[in-house]
Amino acid sequence: MINAYHQRIFDEIRKKIGTKEAGYFVLACVDIEGFKIISEQYGADTANEILRHIKKCINECMEEVDGFSAHTMTDEFLLLYPSKYSDSKIFSKYYAKAVKPPCFDCRISLRIGKYRIDHPQEAPESMYYRAQLAADSICGNYERKSAVYSEELRSALIHRQQLVFNMNDALRKKEFELWLQPQCNHATGAIIGAEVLVRWNHEGKYISPAEFIGVFEETGFIYQMDKYVWENACILLRHWIDEGKMPLPLSVNVSRKDILHDDFLDTLTSLLEKYQISTELLRVEITESAFADVEGKVTEKVNELIHRGYIVEIDDFGSGDSSLNTLKDVPAPVLKLDMRFFEDTKNADRAGNIIESVVRMAKWLDMEVIAEGVEERSQADFLKSIGCYYIQGYYYAKPMPIKDFEAWAENRDKETSLNRIHAIENYDSSDFWNPESIETLIFNNYVGGAYVFEYRNGETELLRINDEYLQQFRGMILPNTDLRHMGVLNYLNDTEKRKFYKTMRDAAQSHREASCELEISDGVKTEYLRITMRVLAQTDNRSLFYAGVSNVTERHKAHRNEQIIAKQLQVILDHIQEGVITLALRDEKNIEIVYANDSFYHLHGFTKEQYKQEISFITDLILQEDRENAERKIAEIERCGGSTTFEYACRKRDGSVVQMQMTCSFIMMESIEKNLLLGVINDITDKREGELHGTHQTRGAADDSGCSE
Ligand code: C2E
Ligand code: CA
Ligand code: CA
Repeated sequence: MINAYHQRIFDEIRKKIGTKEAGYFVLACVDIEGFKIISEQYGADTANEILRHIKKCINECMEEVDGFSAHTMTDEFLLLYPSKYSDSKIFSKYYAKAVKPPCFDCRISLRIGKYRIDHPQEAPESMYYRAQLAADSICGNYERKSAVYSEELRSALIHRQQLVFNMNDALRKKEFELWLQPQCNHATGAIIGAEVLVRWNHEGKYISPAEFIGVFEETGFIYQMDKYVWENACILLRHWIDEGKMPLPLSVNVSRKDILHDDFLDTLTSLLEKYQISTELLRVEITESAFADVEGKVTEKVNELIHRGYIVEIDDFGSGDSSLNTLKDVPAPVLKLDMRFFEDTKNADRAGNIIESVVRMAKWLDMEVIAEGVEERSQADFLKSIGCYYIQGYYYAKPMPIKDFEAWAENRDKETSLNRIHAIENYDSSDFWNPESIETLIFNNYVGGAYVFEYRNGETELLRINDEYLQQFRGMILPNTDLRHMGVLNYLNDTEKRKFYKTMRDAAQSHREASCELEISDGVKTEYLRITMRVLAQTDNRSLFYAGVSNVTERHKAHRNEQIIAKQLQVILDHIQEGVITLALRDEKNIEIVYANDSFYHLHGFTKEQYKQEISFITDLILQEDRENAERKIAEIERCGGSTTFEYACRKRDGSVVQMQMTCSFIMMESIEKNLLLGVINDITDKREGELHGTHQTRGAADDSGCSE
């Protein structure tokens, strides 16, 4: 309502505009969003405080930009200022201040509509109206705080206004028509059901739902319209049943706004009761984005729907930000995947992979997938090849009026129950999503790489990898490789492949972890991976595995080097005349031979086998009178380290006595956490005998060690 006060404001505006050229000024309208609710909830005093605060900010701002402002309505201000300041920092500064009144601990939301005055002769009332229109266009849109008036905006708003103006009449005059789009099983060609899509037949012209659904949602009228659609779907089903036709299940759309109505569940249920329709026949489509509510109200209601036996379909899956994770809170049995959402994906292979992974995962979660927006045969065939048979799209048929649909369906095979895979045993799918479940924990916190793969018809396929997975391949997998070519098997030769499959079988049969170490190669370099697998789920012909993978190349190479060195040493040791032994000391009497070269046995007149059978303790060979000395010497170096040489008399297998000299030292083997005695033995009988005939020498003079205590 324009009153005398407003007239004075307009006069003032006219005067100011008259002094400047066209385009110099902007007229803006500032609305306080939800002001009535604020004053109701927080009281008049707080509301007045808020108003005073905003008014002060506006006045200060206008002063700074040499503009003019007026308080036009309780929750609305009018501003006139030079357009050069329109997007200046001055405005952002005052905006930030205005939305945080000191008396109020929540943020205020301001809506600004701007109109650039390009025709100064225009009536200020009309300018004001256009600025208001721009502000209205972002009503309820909390992401945008300002809008500029344009002719397109004007016609869109007028169109919207007409829709709102006509909607109630349209319902009364039955202008909303139910059209049906078939859903088919691409494997058999049979029809499995149809989606109900509304069409507005307004004075002989069809208005597309894309134009009016959003408007109806904003105004809340959607609930009226949807109830009408649901009821007419029930009427159609009843009609089919009464005619003795096999009724095809119909899927109806449910808007997020509908679900939030308190009587939503009861309304739907009483419709089914009224027309005696089972929940199997009226499926319910709810778009994925509806679940993005913080309070979880939608999730709660949808769970109740499922509980009451409804078949809930998650529509437009993949359109929003949410991923498969959305599904963890809603055990919906059907997922609708729209092919058109993947059109933008630059890499066709990648798009195919995403679709494939979603289909697989959905199946593992016991969900059926209906692919929508399928226009080409190649798309339908691809979907079939990955196990997604149910298809809705222009490839089969566009949405059509009921009569046309009945004719279309007449001579086709019909399947009315979705064939879900049920055979998953010993795997609680909910665990996969539970953030505290072992699976998730392992997957996200695993130090090394981890992946989930499926084994089916002799083929393995990667479904999911964690961040660390690729790193284990140390550059062997190039960036942008698609998931299909990232599996370990792509890098194995036949022998290694056999090892992989054996481990897989072991894990599948034992239901426990099984591991192996594999050599992987890209033709240029070689690395070693340790794979540990565990089966997550099994059906007759598929198994889902979880696997940990870590690169063990360093350890593997070190071990290999050790083996090579040991082999080389052995060759040397087997060809020298001295006897060489390594002994592990269990206790004083119990000394075990870890290694002995051929010469050792030979020096004592034994073969290896004879020695093993006949001799229990190595000290048994030493003659009694020398045994104590030998044991003492060994005990000494075990205590003090270093090496020692001593002599002893020893009886050979044939009974003859020989004089031996042994030089030994201890070596610490960390790997076995035990001390080993390494000894080199020489037969010095001849030497000693020669000496006896020459100079006389005391036995043991060759000792070069011994510790003083
Ligand atoms: P929607 O639920 O995702 O429905 C599928 C839309 O994709 C329909 O558009 C359908 O005609 C179209 N479509 C199906 N196959 C193909 C294809 O192969 N290629 C292309 N290009 N399009 C295909 P429509 O009928 O215009 O409906 C648009 C949206 O309006 C629907 O999207 C749904 O969100 C909403 N809607 C339609 N009817 C109702 C209703 O009765 N109630 C409510 N709340 N929303 C409805
Ligand atoms: Ca739908
Ligand atoms: Ca859809």
